[in-house]
Amino acid sequence: MKILLKNTTLLDMVGNEPNIRKTDILIDEDEISKIEENIEDEEAQVIDIKENLVMPGFVNTHTHLAMSIFRGYKDDQKLMDWLENAIFPVEDKLRPDDIYWNTFLSCIELIKTGTTTFNDMYFGMDKTIQAAEESGLRGVIAWSITDTSIKDKIERTREYHQKYNYPDSKIKIYVSAHAPYSCNPDTIKLCVDLAKELNTGIHIHLAETLQEQAIIKDRYNKTGTEYLNDLHVFDVPVVLAHGIYISDNDLKILKKIKGGISHNPISNCKLSSGICDVTKLRKNGINVGLGTDGIGSTTTLDMFEEMKTAAYLQKINTMEPTSINAYEILKMATIEGARVLGLDRKIGTIEVGKKADMIIINTDKTHLYPENDLCTNLVYSANGADVDTVIINGKVIMQNRKLLNINEKHVKKNIAKVVKRLL
Ligand SMILES: [Zn+2]
Repeated sequence: MKILLKNTTLLDMVGNEPNIRKTDILIDEDEISKIEENIEDEEAQVIDIKENLVMPGFVNTHTHLAMSIFRGYKDDQKLMDWLENAIFPVEDKLRPDDIYWNTFLSCIELIKTGTTTFNDMYFGMDKTIQAAEESGLRGVIAWSITDTSIKDKIERTREYHQKYNYPDSKIKIYVSAHAPYSCNPDTIKLCVDLAKELNTGIHIHLAETLQEQAIIKDRYNKTGTEYLNDLHVFDVPVVLAHGIYISDNDLKILKKIKGGISHNPISNCKLSSGICDVTKLRKNGINVGLGTDGIGSTTTLDMFEEMKTAAYLQKINTMEPTSINAYEILKMATIEGARVLGLDRKIGTIEVGKKADMIIINTDKTHLYPENDLCTNLVYSANGADVDTVIINGKVIMQNRKLLNINEKHVKKNIAKVVKRLL
């Protein structure tokens, strides 16, 4: 199957400066096979982009998709109070089918706002995989491991890794140790051993709140980063969610990691967690991607909102408006996020030979006019509803804002049943 995108305005996200040009793009099966003007191909399905923008799909580097039912549920609390009193009691009652429907709702939201790859940590991995596959998304998926029922979670991780560990798989299995405060040294060691055995990475929350830092200091007399370093977590690639409280010594340790940090600006604001010093981390050569975190601690899964908030937080944190620019924020949402997940050779830019994960943005909007600078319009003025068409792995998933193979009404009907039973 070939798709020919005619008359595109392409922002390819290659290089350190924006490269915007008029061109055609040919997709052959799952890959981008040609980027040049005036391509003709009789076998291809032609889509006229009408000069609208084509760019790589967004990479959401940290989320918990099954938490969609917690949108607006017992909001405006401290993180630990909210988790212990509102979230954990409901999560204990979640059935596998609930996880499937909750995740599916999030998958729809991701697609409709331009995300093509997500990195998820939760339980019920099989149901998350099912929803990802049926919706068409690319996903890195991990079973969140804490100090309880470890053996079973390790076994499941191993089982699904074996099943999905083939070269062109859209599903990549990671090991997830939940966080330094919820995983004792033995649990962390088991996770490291498993990641080494499977030749994969570890997804973990780190340095999200001052309270967490105090707990780790009290237990081990070290920072969260030092705790993980001493347990050899950084021997394998990592995705570190949040990374707000980083000492100078932590920074030295993190300079050497493979993978990177997932910055979740809206979650950090909503829970008063603090501000991740993205500017400093990036200056030190550490990859920083953007993530939404789960619904509840964030507001939506719209990466446009995260981009805007990330930019504003850096500007206010440094009191310096030049600290980060719109193109750098776009990189964090695409290629840098892909690098954090170890997927940068496959996705994150639009180049010949890469997987065809791309979004088309309708730029003919009042709030995007005039277009003095495309990148600043995207970061500061656009929103998820401007995404018109989504292509993942060479397949059109949404066209003219219509989901082609997903019945959104049916998903919402099932979510309503879960909400009625649990909330
Ligand atoms: Zn999280």
